[in-house]
Amino acid sequence: MQYRPIGKTGMSASIIGLGAEYLDNKPYELVEETIHASLEKGINIIDVFMPGDTVRSNIGKALAGNRKKVMLQGHIGSVDLSQQYDMSRDLEVCKRYFDKLLSCLDTDYIDFGMLFFLDSDTDIDAIFDNGVVAYAQDLKQQGVIRALGASAHNPATAKRMVESGVIELLMFSINPAFDLMAGTSDIMAMMGTDYAGIVQSFDPARAELYRLCESRGIGITVMKTLGAGKLLSAEHTPFAKPMTTAQCIHYALTRPAVVSTLIGCQSREHVLDVVRYLTLSDEEKDYAPIISSVKRDFRGSCVYCNHCQPCPVEIDVAMVHKYLDIAVLDKSSVPPSIRQHYKELSSHGSDCTQCGSCEERCPFGVPVAENMKRAAGIFDL
Ligand code: SF4
Ligand code: SF4
Repeated sequence: MQYRPIGKTGMSASIIGLGAEYLDNKPYELVEETIHASLEKGINIIDVFMPGDTVRSNIGKALAGNRKKVMLQGHIGSVDLSQQYDMSRDLEVCKRYFDKLLSCLDTDYIDFGMLFFLDSDTDIDAIFDNGVVAYAQDLKQQGVIRALGASAHNPATAKRMVESGVIELLMFSINPAFDLMAGTSDIMAMMGTDYAGIVQSFDPARAELYRLCESRGIGITVMKTLGAGKLLSAEHTPFAKPMTTAQCIHYALTRPAVVSTLIGCQSREHVLDVVRYLTLSDEEKDYAPIISSVKRDFRGSCVYCNHCQPCPVEIDVAMVHKYLDIAVLDKSSVPPSIRQHYKELSSHGSDCTQCGSCEERCPFGVPVAENMKRAAGIFDL
Protein backbone atom coordinates (compact mmCIF):
# COMPACT_ATOMS: atom_id res chain seq x y z
CA MET A 1 0.00 0.00 0.00
CA GLN A 2 1.07 3.58 -0.49
CA TYR A 3 0.18 6.38 1.89
CA ARG A 4 -0.20 10.13 1.45
CA PRO A 5 -0.21 12.87 4.08
CA ILE A 6 -3.66 14.35 4.71
CA GLY A 7 -3.04 18.05 4.34
CA LYS A 8 -1.84 19.61 7.57
CA THR A 9 -3.45 17.06 9.92
CA GLY A 10 -0.28 15.08 10.56
CA MET A 11 -2.14 11.91 9.56
CA SER A 12 -1.57 9.82 6.44
CA ALA A 13 -4.12 7.81 4.48
CA SER A 14 -3.78 4.79 2.22
CA ILE A 15 -4.29 5.91 -1.39
CA ILE A 16 -7.06 3.34 -1.62
CA GLY A 17 -9.64 3.45 1.16
CA LEU A 18 -12.91 1.70 1.82
CA GLY A 19 -16.28 3.32 1.27
CA ALA A 20 -18.59 1.25 3.48
CA GLU A 21 -21.86 2.11 1.74
CA TYR A 22 -22.22 -1.28 0.07
CA LEU A 23 -21.89 -3.03 3.42
CA ASP A 24 -25.29 -1.67 4.39
CA ASN A 25 -28.00 -4.36 4.51
CA LYS A 26 -25.39 -7.09 4.17
CA PRO A 27 -24.89 -10.03 6.55
CA TYR A 28 -22.24 -9.58 9.25
CA GLU A 29 -19.99 -12.26 7.72
CA LEU A 30 -19.64 -10.23 4.52
CA VAL A 31 -18.92 -7.04 6.46
CA GLU A 32 -16.23 -8.83 8.44
CA GLU A 33 -14.52 -10.42 5.42
CA THR A 34 -14.49 -7.09 3.56
CA ILE A 35 -13.07 -5.15 6.48
CA HIS A 36 -10.51 -7.79 7.36
CA ALA A 37 -9.33 -8.00 3.74
CA SER A 38 -9.00 -4.21 3.71
CA LEU A 39 -6.89 -4.24 6.87
CA GLU A 40 -4.70 -7.05 5.49
CA LYS A 41 -4.02 -4.98 2.39
CA GLY A 42 -2.99 -1.90 4.40
CA ILE A 43 -6.16 0.14 3.90
CA ASN A 44 -6.30 2.53 6.85
CA ILE A 45 -9.25 4.80 6.07
CA ILE A 46 -12.93 3.87 6.00
CA ASP A 47 -15.89 6.12 5.32
CA VAL A 48 -18.96 5.33 7.41
CA PHE A 49 -21.67 7.74 6.31
CA MET A 50 -24.57 5.32 6.68
CA PRO A 51 -26.92 6.22 9.54
CA GLY A 52 -28.32 2.75 10.29
CA ASP A 53 -27.47 1.14 13.64
CA THR A 54 -27.04 -2.36 12.22
CA VAL A 55 -24.39 -1.56 9.63
CA ARG A 56 -22.56 0.73 12.07
CA SER A 57 -22.56 -2.00 14.73
CA ASN A 58 -21.41 -4.62 12.21
CA ILE A 59 -18.48 -2.41 11.23
CA GLY A 60 -17.64 -1.80 14.90
CA LYS A 61 -17.69 -5.53 15.60
CA ALA A 62 -15.52 -6.31 12.56
CA LEU A 63 -12.99 -3.71 13.73
CA ALA A 64 -12.76 -5.13 17.26
CA GLY A 65 -9.11 -5.17 18.32
CA ASN A 66 -8.08 -3.22 15.23
CA ARG A 67 -9.63 0.20 15.87
CA LYS A 68 -6.25 1.94 16.02
CA LYS A 69 -5.20 0.55 12.63
CA VAL A 70 -7.84 2.56 10.78
CA MET A 71 -9.09 6.10 10.52
CA LEU A 72 -12.84 6.53 10.30
CA GLN A 73 -14.76 9.25 8.55
CA GLY A 74 -18.02 9.67 10.52
CA HIS A 75 -20.69 12.08 9.35
CA ILE A 76 -22.52 14.71 11.38
CA GLY A 77 -26.02 15.15 9.98
CA SER A 78 -26.43 11.74 8.31
CA VAL A 79 -29.72 10.33 9.64
CA ASP A 80 -32.51 7.93 8.69
CA LEU A 81 -35.54 9.78 9.99
CA SER A 82 -37.85 9.80 6.97
CA GLN A 83 -35.85 7.65 4.57
CA GLN A 84 -32.86 5.32 4.71
CA TYR A 85 -30.31 7.99 3.72
CA ASP A 86 -31.61 11.29 5.01
CA MET A 87 -29.92 14.40 6.35
CA SER A 88 -30.62 16.75 9.22
CA ARG A 89 -29.36 20.21 10.15
CA ASP A 90 -31.05 20.08 13.54
CA LEU A 91 -28.46 20.25 16.30
CA GLU A 92 -30.14 17.84 18.71
CA VAL A 93 -30.77 15.29 15.95
CA CYS A 94 -27.16 15.60 14.74
CA LYS A 95 -25.91 15.05 18.29
CA ARG A 96 -28.14 12.03 18.80
CA TYR A 97 -26.95 10.31 15.61
CA PHE A 98 -23.30 11.14 16.25
CA ASP A 99 -23.53 9.71 19.79
CA LYS A 100 -25.11 6.59 18.29
CA LEU A 101 -22.28 6.37 15.78
CA LEU A 102 -19.75 6.24 18.60
CA SER A 103 -21.69 3.65 20.56
CA CYS A 104 -22.46 1.42 17.56
CA LEU A 105 -18.84 1.48 16.48
CA ASP A 106 -17.82 0.86 20.09
CA THR A 107 -15.24 3.65 20.02
CA ASP A 108 -14.67 6.85 21.96
CA TYR A 109 -13.32 8.83 18.99
CA ILE A 110 -13.82 9.40 15.29
CA ASP A 111 -10.84 10.44 13.23
CA PHE A 112 -12.68 12.73 10.81
CA GLY A 113 -15.93 14.35 11.86
CA MET A 114 -17.50 15.15 8.50
CA LEU A 115 -20.14 17.85 8.12
CA PHE A 116 -22.51 15.90 5.93
CA PHE A 117 -23.64 16.60 2.36
CA LEU A 118 -23.20 20.35 1.95
CA ASP A 119 -24.49 20.98 -1.57
CA SER A 120 -26.21 24.34 -1.26
CA ASP A 121 -25.69 27.65 0.46
CA THR A 122 -28.80 26.86 2.50
CA ASP A 123 -27.10 23.70 3.81
CA ILE A 124 -24.05 25.68 4.85
CA ASP A 125 -26.01 28.55 6.40
CA ALA A 126 -28.04 26.03 8.40
CA ILE A 127 -25.05 24.24 9.94
CA PHE A 128 -23.50 27.54 11.01
CA ASP A 129 -26.78 29.08 12.22
CA ASN A 130 -28.01 25.97 14.06
CA GLY A 131 -24.82 25.43 16.01
CA VAL A 132 -23.77 22.24 14.18
CA VAL A 133 -20.35 23.64 13.26
CA ALA A 134 -19.79 24.87 16.82
CA TYR A 135 -20.77 21.39 18.09
CA ALA A 136 -18.28 19.75 15.73
CA GLN A 137 -15.55 22.17 16.79
CA ASP A 138 -16.33 21.41 20.41
CA LEU A 139 -16.04 17.66 19.72
CA LYS A 140 -12.64 18.33 18.25
CA GLN A 141 -11.54 20.32 21.26
CA GLN A 142 -12.59 17.43 23.51
CA GLY A 143 -10.64 14.98 21.35
CA VAL A 144 -13.78 13.08 20.32
CA ILE A 145 -12.95 13.90 16.72
CA ARG A 146 -9.37 14.36 15.58
CA ALA A 147 -10.02 16.58 12.56
CA LEU A 148 -12.97 18.30 10.98
CA GLY A 149 -14.09 17.66 7.42
CA ALA A 150 -17.04 18.09 5.10
CA SER A 151 -18.60 16.10 2.29
CA ALA A 152 -19.96 17.79 -0.85
CA HIS A 153 -20.67 17.20 -4.53
CA ASN A 154 -20.95 20.81 -5.60
CA PRO A 155 -17.71 22.70 -6.31
CA ALA A 156 -19.17 26.06 -5.28
CA THR A 157 -20.29 24.93 -1.82
CA ALA A 158 -17.15 22.86 -1.33
CA LYS A 159 -15.11 25.97 -2.13
CA ARG A 160 -17.11 27.98 0.40
CA MET A 161 -16.38 25.40 3.11
CA VAL A 162 -12.67 25.32 2.21
CA GLU A 163 -12.52 29.13 2.35
CA SER A 164 -14.37 29.17 5.69
CA GLY A 165 -11.21 27.83 7.30
CA VAL A 166 -13.31 25.39 9.35
CA ILE A 167 -12.39 22.11 7.64
CA GLU A 168 -9.15 20.18 7.28
CA LEU A 169 -10.43 17.49 4.91
CA LEU A 170 -12.90 17.48 2.04
CA MET A 171 -14.74 14.41 0.76
CA PHE A 172 -15.69 15.16 -2.83
CA SER A 173 -17.08 13.24 -5.80
CA ILE A 174 -14.40 13.00 -8.49
CA ASN A 175 -14.26 11.09 -11.76
CA PRO A 176 -13.56 12.15 -15.34
CA ALA A 177 -17.24 12.28 -16.32
CA PHE A 178 -18.07 14.66 -13.46
CA ASP A 179 -15.00 16.78 -14.19
CA LEU A 180 -16.14 17.12 -17.80
CA MET A 181 -19.66 18.29 -17.01
CA ALA A 182 -20.73 21.90 -17.16
CA GLY A 183 -20.28 23.84 -13.90
CA THR A 184 -23.93 24.05 -13.01
CA SER A 185 -24.63 20.34 -13.43
CA ASP A 186 -26.41 18.73 -10.53
CA ILE A 187 -24.15 15.77 -9.88
CA MET A 188 -26.66 13.97 -7.67
CA ALA A 189 -29.31 14.21 -10.37
CA MET A 190 -26.80 13.01 -12.96
CA MET A 191 -26.17 9.89 -10.86
CA GLY A 192 -29.59 8.66 -11.92
CA THR A 193 -29.05 9.10 -15.64
CA ASP A 194 -26.81 7.88 -18.41
CA TYR A 195 -23.60 9.81 -18.76
CA ALA A 196 -23.52 9.40 -22.51
CA GLY A 197 -23.76 12.71 -24.32
CA ILE A 198 -23.40 14.94 -21.27
CA VAL A 199 -19.66 15.46 -21.07
CA GLN A 200 -18.46 18.79 -22.37
CA SER A 201 -15.19 20.41 -21.39
CA PHE A 202 -13.18 20.40 -18.19
CA ASP A 203 -15.18 22.27 -15.59
CA PRO A 204 -12.95 25.11 -14.37
CA ALA A 205 -14.81 25.35 -11.04
CA ARG A 206 -13.93 21.76 -10.17
CA ALA A 207 -10.32 22.10 -11.32
CA GLU A 208 -10.00 25.31 -9.31
CA LEU A 209 -11.41 23.60 -6.21
CA TYR A 210 -8.74 20.90 -6.31
CA ARG A 211 -6.01 23.51 -6.70
CA LEU A 212 -7.45 25.60 -3.89
CA CYS A 213 -7.40 22.58 -1.58
CA GLU A 214 -3.80 21.80 -2.53
CA SER A 215 -2.71 25.39 -1.96
CA ARG A 216 -4.47 25.52 1.46
CA GLY A 217 -3.14 22.15 2.61
CA ILE A 218 -6.57 20.51 2.69
CA GLY A 219 -6.63 16.87 1.63
CA ILE A 220 -9.40 15.41 -0.51
CA THR A 221 -10.85 11.93 -0.09
CA VAL A 222 -12.75 10.83 -3.16
CA MET A 223 -16.22 9.34 -3.47
CA LYS A 224 -17.91 8.24 -6.72
CA THR A 225 -14.50 7.35 -8.14
CA LEU A 226 -16.12 4.81 -10.48
CA GLY A 227 -19.24 6.92 -11.10
CA ALA A 228 -21.36 4.24 -9.37
CA GLY A 229 -19.95 1.74 -11.89
CA LYS A 230 -21.18 3.64 -14.93
CA LEU A 231 -17.70 4.49 -16.16
CA LEU A 232 -16.97 0.75 -16.22
CA SER A 233 -20.00 0.02 -18.36
CA ALA A 234 -19.99 0.05 -22.16
CA GLU A 235 -23.62 1.08 -22.10
CA HIS A 236 -23.34 4.09 -19.83
CA THR A 237 -19.84 5.49 -20.32
CA PRO A 238 -19.58 8.85 -22.08
CA PHE A 239 -16.26 7.75 -23.54
CA ALA A 240 -15.49 5.60 -26.57
CA LYS A 241 -14.99 2.58 -24.33
CA PRO A 242 -15.42 1.69 -20.68
CA MET A 243 -12.68 2.59 -18.22
CA THR A 244 -11.12 0.04 -15.88
CA THR A 245 -11.30 0.40 -12.10
CA ALA A 246 -7.57 1.12 -12.07
CA GLN A 247 -7.89 3.91 -14.65
CA CYS A 248 -10.64 5.55 -12.60
CA ILE A 249 -8.57 5.30 -9.42
CA HIS A 250 -5.52 6.66 -11.20
CA TYR A 251 -7.50 9.60 -12.58
CA ALA A 252 -8.69 10.58 -9.09
CA LEU A 253 -5.26 10.10 -7.53
CA THR A 254 -3.66 12.38 -10.10
CA ARG A 255 -5.92 15.36 -9.22
CA PRO A 256 -4.30 17.97 -6.97
CA ALA A 257 -4.86 17.51 -3.20
CA VAL A 258 -6.31 14.00 -3.51
CA VAL A 259 -5.03 11.67 -0.80
CA SER A 260 -7.31 8.65 -1.05
CA THR A 261 -10.02 7.12 -3.22
CA LEU A 262 -12.72 5.47 -1.12
CA ILE A 263 -13.97 2.53 -3.10
CA GLY A 264 -17.24 0.85 -2.23
CA CYS A 265 -16.21 -2.80 -1.82
CA GLN A 266 -18.57 -5.51 -0.65
CA SER A 267 -16.47 -8.67 -0.47
CA ARG A 268 -12.93 -9.87 0.08
CA GLU A 269 -12.59 -10.58 -3.64
CA HIS A 270 -13.67 -7.05 -4.47
CA VAL A 271 -11.03 -5.57 -2.13
CA LEU A 272 -8.32 -7.74 -3.69
CA ASP A 273 -9.41 -6.69 -7.16
CA VAL A 274 -9.29 -2.99 -6.28
CA VAL A 275 -5.86 -3.07 -4.62
CA ARG A 276 -4.48 -4.73 -7.74
CA TYR A 277 -4.09 -1.09 -8.85
CA LEU A 278 -0.88 -1.02 -6.81
CA THR A 279 0.72 -3.74 -8.94
CA LEU A 280 -0.17 -2.41 -12.39
CA SER A 281 2.16 -0.72 -14.86
CA ASP A 282 1.81 2.95 -15.79
CA GLU A 283 0.47 1.84 -19.15
CA GLU A 284 -2.29 -0.21 -17.54
CA LYS A 285 -3.36 2.76 -15.39
CA ASP A 286 -3.16 5.31 -18.21
CA TYR A 287 -6.55 6.98 -18.67
CA ALA A 288 -5.53 9.50 -21.34
CA PRO A 289 -6.59 7.45 -24.38
CA ILE A 290 -10.09 7.01 -22.91
CA ILE A 291 -10.67 10.64 -21.97
CA SER A 292 -9.25 11.94 -25.21
CA SER A 293 -11.84 9.83 -27.04
CA VAL A 294 -14.41 12.54 -26.28
CA LYS A 295 -14.12 14.87 -29.23
CA ARG A 296 -14.91 18.02 -27.35
CA ASP A 297 -13.06 21.25 -26.91
CA PHE A 298 -10.89 20.69 -23.92
CA ARG A 299 -7.63 20.66 -25.77
CA GLY A 300 -4.76 22.62 -24.31
CA SER A 301 -5.37 21.83 -20.61
CA CYS A 302 -3.11 19.36 -18.85
CA VAL A 303 -5.04 16.52 -17.19
CA TYR A 304 -1.91 15.30 -15.32
CA CYS A 305 -1.94 11.89 -16.99
CA ASN A 306 1.81 11.67 -17.84
CA HIS A 307 0.99 10.03 -21.16
CA CYS A 308 3.69 12.30 -22.63
CA GLN A 309 6.55 10.50 -20.84
CA PRO A 310 9.43 9.82 -21.17
CA CYS A 311 11.09 13.22 -21.10
CA PRO A 312 14.80 13.02 -22.01
CA VAL A 313 15.72 15.29 -19.09
CA GLU A 314 13.31 13.51 -16.74
CA ILE A 315 10.89 16.33 -16.13
CA ASP A 316 7.72 15.06 -14.42
CA VAL A 317 5.53 17.00 -16.83
CA ALA A 318 2.27 16.29 -15.00
CA MET A 319 3.61 17.46 -11.63
CA VAL A 320 5.13 20.62 -13.09
CA HIS A 321 1.76 21.40 -14.66
CA LYS A 322 -0.04 20.71 -11.39
CA TYR A 323 2.13 23.22 -9.52
CA LEU A 324 2.03 25.70 -12.40
CA ASP A 325 -1.79 25.59 -12.48
CA ILE A 326 -1.91 26.34 -8.76
CA ALA A 327 0.69 29.11 -9.03
CA VAL A 328 -1.15 30.96 -11.78
CA LEU A 329 -4.27 31.23 -9.56
CA ASP A 330 -2.39 34.09 -7.89
CA LYS A 331 1.11 34.67 -9.20
CA SER A 332 1.81 37.37 -6.60
CA SER A 333 1.33 34.93 -3.74
CA VAL A 334 2.34 31.41 -4.68
CA PRO A 335 1.89 29.17 -1.60
CA PRO A 336 5.32 28.35 -0.08
CA SER A 337 4.34 24.66 0.11
CA ILE A 338 3.82 24.61 -3.67
CA ARG A 339 7.21 26.27 -4.25
CA GLN A 340 8.75 23.69 -1.94
CA HIS A 341 7.09 20.73 -3.71
CA TYR A 342 8.25 22.11 -7.05
CA LYS A 343 11.79 22.53 -5.75
CA GLU A 344 11.81 18.90 -4.60
CA LEU A 345 11.21 17.62 -8.14
CA SER A 346 14.35 16.12 -9.66
CA SER A 347 14.06 18.19 -12.86
CA HIS A 348 12.43 21.56 -13.40
CA GLY A 349 10.95 23.76 -16.10
CA SER A 350 14.33 25.41 -16.60
CA ASP A 351 15.80 21.99 -17.54
CA CYS A 352 13.48 21.70 -20.54
CA THR A 353 15.40 21.59 -23.82
CA GLN A 354 12.25 22.45 -25.80
CA CYS A 355 12.66 19.21 -27.77
CA GLY A 356 8.88 18.90 -28.18
CA SER A 357 8.77 15.10 -28.02
CA CYS A 358 6.24 15.25 -25.16
CA GLU A 359 3.91 17.38 -27.26
CA GLU A 360 3.84 14.71 -29.95
CA ARG A 361 2.66 12.20 -27.35
CA CYS A 362 0.16 14.43 -25.52
CA PRO A 363 -3.40 13.56 -26.64
CA PHE A 364 -4.69 16.89 -25.32
CA GLY A 365 -2.61 19.33 -27.38
CA VAL A 366 -0.93 20.86 -24.33
CA PRO A 367 1.85 23.36 -25.22
CA VAL A 368 4.24 21.64 -22.83
CA ALA A 369 7.47 23.34 -23.92
CA GLU A 370 5.89 26.76 -23.56
CA ASN A 371 4.46 25.81 -20.17
CA MET A 372 7.86 24.62 -18.95
CA LYS A 373 9.15 28.12 -19.75
CA ARG A 374 6.24 29.63 -17.79
CA ALA A 375 6.96 27.34 -14.84
CA ALA A 376 10.62 28.32 -14.94
CA GLY A 377 9.61 32.00 -14.97
CA ILE A 378 7.53 31.56 -11.83
CA PHE A 379 9.50 29.01 -9.84
CA ASP A 380 13.10 28.97 -11.05
CA LEU A 381 13.99 32.65 -10.71
S1 SF4 B 1 1.05 17.35 -21.05
FE1 SF4 B 1 -0.55 16.08 -21.99
S2 SF4 B 1 0.18 13.96 -21.83
FE2 SF4 B 1 1.45 15.22 -20.48
S3 SF4 B 1 0.51 15.05 -18.47
FE3 SF4 B 1 -0.38 16.86 -19.44
S4 SF4 B 1 -2.21 16.14 -20.50
FE4 SF4 B 1 -1.02 14.33 -20.00
S1 SF4 C 1 9.90 19.59 -24.46
FE1 SF4 C 1 10.81 19.74 -22.45
S2 SF4 C 1 9.39 18.68 -21.12
FE2 SF4 C 1 8.92 18.04 -23.20
S3 SF4 C 1 10.09 16.13 -23.49
FE3 SF4 C 1 11.32 17.84 -24.27
S4 SF4 C 1 12.61 18.42 -22.53
FE4 SF4 C 1 10.94 17.18 -21.69
